[in-house]
Amino acid sequence: MMASRHTVLMRLVASAYSIAQKAGTIVRGVIAEGDLGIVEKTCPTDLQTKADRLAQMSICSSLARKFPKLTIIGEEAYLHTHPKTVTLKMKEPTFHVNERAEVSHVRSFGDLPFEEVDQELIEDGQWEEILKQPCPSQYSTIKEEDLVVWVDPLDGTKEYTEGLLDNVTVLIGIAYEGKAIAGVINQPYYNYQSNEKQKLREHENEAKAGPDAMLGRTIWGVLGLGAFGFQLKEVPAGKHIITTTRSHSNKLVTDCVTAMNPDDVLRVGGAGNKIIQLIEGKASAYVFASPGCKKWDTCAPEVILHAVGGKLTDIHGNALQYNKEVKHMNSAGVLATLRNYDYYASRVPESVKNALVP
Ligand code: AMP
Ligand code: MG
Ligand code: MG
Repeated sequence: MMASRHTVLMRLVASAYSIAQKAGTIVRGVIAEGDLGIVEKTCPTDLQTKADRLAQMSICSSLARKFPKLTIIGEEAYLHTHPKTVTLKMKEPTFHVNERAEVSHVRSFGDLPFEEVDQELIEDGQWEEILKQPCPSQYSTIKEEDLVVWVDPLDGTKEYTEGLLDNVTVLIGIAYEGKAIAGVINQPYYNYQSNEKQKLREHENEAKAGPDAMLGRTIWGVLGLGAFGFQLKEVPAGKHIITTTRSHSNKLVTDCVTAMNPDDVLRVGGAGNKIIQLIEGKASAYVFASPGCKKWDTCAPEVILHAVGGKLTDIHGNALQYNKEVKHMNSAGVLATLRNYDYYASRVPESVKNALVP
């Protein structure tokens, strides 16, 4: 077989784009079906739905089939040998997902023949526009086995269960040598609020889903190349608008936000959604002074932000690491801005920093 003229990285990003789009279709499909299949993970604000499970299975299986040497780390861990499994149905074939999600996040495909994964969940496409772009030279010789992919199949699950559908994103982040270098964000319900009638015809939309679909969009980026699929916009100069959690707040979170002396505070769900607010001029800083956010929440969003000149760190200003051995929790919180990072970093109180150990 002739070697592809495209680099591994660009082929992976092009595939991740189509795979994230497919996951977005699954996320909409579960709402349209009406049975969310909600499971509590660690507490009542830490939830998993059927959409999280199906989307993760779709993303991880599709990626692993095409790129068998990748390390893939997904939020919704499951182990097939675990005794407590639930059977899910999506159209005809059935498959099994573990309900107790704490065992292993690194998907092992060695024990799961691909035939066991519903063929309907597999996405084989790649976004051709991405393959037309040049691979940044520093990444041109990367091998498949050197890449780590961080998958959040549905970011903003709490909001998803409450019908705040435009808060939801699908996140696929790609890391090399511990650094987030490429990422894809699908927002399945982009345009949701401005298309109230459309939401009543979701099934029709599914049939048309594709590059010209009105509902949903996909943002992608590679460091050294740029970020695409949205219009970059900045908050008016001098305005300090903070975006932070709406479902996972506590005193430390609010203390830190207050210390920024904001003109406005937007409490919305999802790490992906909050980065979208930064790049579209809705908010000037994403401030989350608490543990809880994980590497799969920040990997893809960080790339998109960095590709347009922004900055995402923990609350101390440390860069986040994404090698496969790293602990999943971003224990020291998140601080992200498109511009004026130093203003926000300088206003994080010492008491907040002392309370959050990396
Ligand atoms: P939020 O801003 O609350 O939407 O959080 C961003 C991401 O971090 C989401 O994926 C949340 O599920 C996750 N997250 C943040 N805090 C917590 C927490 N205390 N427990 C579980 N997940 C959390
Ligand atoms: Mg998440
Ligand atoms: Mg999630």
